[in-house]
Amino acid sequence: MEALQMTMRGIREMDLPKPRARKGEVCLRVELCGICRTDAKILREGHRDLLLPRVLGHEVCVIDDSTQKRYAVWPGETCGRCRECQSGMENLCPQMRILGFHRDGGFAEWMTAPRRSLLPAPPKLPSDLVCLAEPLACAINALEQTQVKTGWRVLIHGGGVVGLLMGMAAKEKGATPCVIEKRPAKRKMAAGIAESLELEIDEKIPGSRFDAAINATSDVKAFKEGLGALRNGGMYGFFSGLASDPDLSRQELNEIHYRQLRLAGSYGCTRRQMTQALSMLQRNISAAGHLIFRRIIFHEIVPYLPVVESGEFFRVLARPAQKD
Ligand SMILES: [Zn+2]
Ligand SMILES: [Zn+2]
Repeated sequence: MEALQMTMRGIREMDLPKPRARKGEVCLRVELCGICRTDAKILREGHRDLLLPRVLGHEVCVIDDSTQKRYAVWPGETCGRCRECQSGMENLCPQMRILGFHRDGGFAEWMTAPRRSLLPAPPKLPSDLVCLAEPLACAINALEQTQVKTGWRVLIHGGGVVGLLMGMAAKEKGATPCVIEKRPAKRKMAAGIAESLELEIDEKIPGSRFDAAINATSDVKAFKEGLGALRNGGMYGFFSGLASDPDLSRQELNEIHYRQLRLAGSYGCTRRQMTQALSMLQRNISAAGHLIFRRIIFHEIVPYLPVVESGEFFRVLARPAQKD
């Protein structure tokens, strides 16, 4: 079986045996797998939660060969019994095992997944877009945690795939999102989806007093700017981890106190949010289609990593070589 595995020595193309499904699992054929920036980053420098050797890839569209049904896979595996699992926050289960981190993921011809993690793909949804269900679900989680409501003005920092999906989801909630993207080339690239969704994309923050602000970029400056653009009592969605020390002054932190701002973290997504994401994509096929940059085959992943990591392009998807 063709697979791209990360080992102690780096990433390699391997011939691995077809995986055997354990109890409660299904063996699935990988049709496509998105490469996100996290993948690119950990392929280069590793990650705290990454257990080697490992096949990476967590944004998958798979096919159950016995039924020919297509699925997206919720990338978590949880205990189902803890407080988090029982209160709708399964993404925070302390025993969480993540696809592509703790168990082998989608940069391979075959993979296994727990049956309960399989989410049926809407029949008319192109497989490329099935791979966007996971990032969109994470964006939906951010909007939920930030309690975004109809009529709210929402500032989103970062016009990459996730920031734009967040804009899409905010629109569906009846909010008025404004996406901030500093790079002119990316604003140009986003023109297609912006037009389809009637989504506002700006270089600079237009005005202030936003009801909510969310960071879809690890840029520390964006974090500070977002807090500053909130109305009194506004909600900050802390979605992206920060790239470096925020170096917040006491004055800046105290603004949260004096202006009664609220801070809501979000991390990952739940099965429910991912199911919601699949139907949202179905309703927005042509808009979401703008977010797919290119399809490549697994052995092209390594040369493509700098492209993915640069964050200058939309989603690159990889597939097994045999299928032409
Ligand atoms: Zn991802
Ligand atoms: Zn749990």
